[in-house]
Amino acid sequence: MKKISLIIPCYNEQETVPLFYAETSSVLKSMDCEYELVFVNDGSSDNTLIELKRLAEKDEHITYLSFSRNFGKEAAMYAGFCNVTGDYVAVMDADMQDPPALLPRMVELLESGEYDSVATRRVSRKGESPVRSWFARRFYQLINRISDADIVDGARDFRLMRKEMVDVIIEMSEYNRFSKGIFGWIGFRTCWLPYENVERTFGRSKWSFWKLCKYAIDGIVNFSQVPLSIASWGGISMTVISFLFLLAIVIRKLVFGDPVAGWPSLACIIIFIGGIQLFCMGIMGQYIAKTYMETKHRPHYIISESNRKEVKAIK
Ligand code: UDP
Ligand code: MG
Repeated sequence: MKKISLIIPCYNEQETVPLFYAETSSVLKSMDCEYELVFVNDGSSDNTLIELKRLAEKDEHITYLSFSRNFGKEAAMYAGFCNVTGDYVAVMDADMQDPPALLPRMVELLESGEYDSVATRRVSRKGESPVRSWFARRFYQLINRISDADIVDGARDFRLMRKEMVDVIIEMSEYNRFSKGIFGWIGFRTCWLPYENVERTFGRSKWSFWKLCKYAIDGIVNFSQVPLSIASWGGISMTVISFLFLLAIVIRKLVFGDPVAGWPSLACIIIFIGGIQLFCMGIMGQYIAKTYMETKHRPHYIISESNRKEVKAIK
């Protein structure tokens, strides 16, 4: 019988953790298989850790990994991947937005041997703010156009994968992580399960709009070099155009003897070009900053507490 490992990143989820535990355990028990729940406490400032310890005391299926500070959901997922023991592995949000009821079907699909991973996709964004949905849709359109990674709109991080696939993900040890891109980039045979969006059971999304924007930039910079080409092609075209203008002005002066008039327009042009130059330098800066962080080889996460002895405390 295969063993299922669920990774649950938790950041200030004291209310949702017990609900999640109750519902998911009942689904897993009904499936009659071996399983483990790996909760990752991502530096919560509320009682999430206390709640996890309480649950771990009465149920041996639970492992908790507690970070020394908030490292972000990507780091929490990575810590989970590095510490699971199951044959099938999935990441699930603690807020019940990833329905545990889908698990039996996902396992069935993997067992059929046709797929290496079963991924889920929201077909609606019901309950999300329209502005957020609009930006999310534009982001998926853009990133699919400019990168090789196949990133599906509405894709969740909730997907059940074979351990072999998880081992490959662990090998992709880049510091700036964008899991949706990594899942798409490594390939493997993936089956998509669509479902209607479920709203958070308690509290608000832990991702502010600003945090999401930064995450989107991470995604683009990690999986595409197109912004850099835009900068260089833009630069080349501007140079050619300005050279043609220069030629026209010199000829006009020589043939017609026109005095060159209007420094205001000249000032505008200089400011315009200056702006574009700064913009392009900003794009390059983004890539250099990412490279800088990668070369430091800092750990993705630091686990300061756990109920399991043999955990990889730092990686
Ligand atoms: N999360 C985390 N660290 C963070 C932010 C979020 O571990 O810095 C967890 C959070 O506890 C939840 C999951 O990631 O289990 C998804 O977060 P949330 O529901 O806030 O995001 P959304 O569903 O709005 O994308
Ligand atoms: Mg959520």
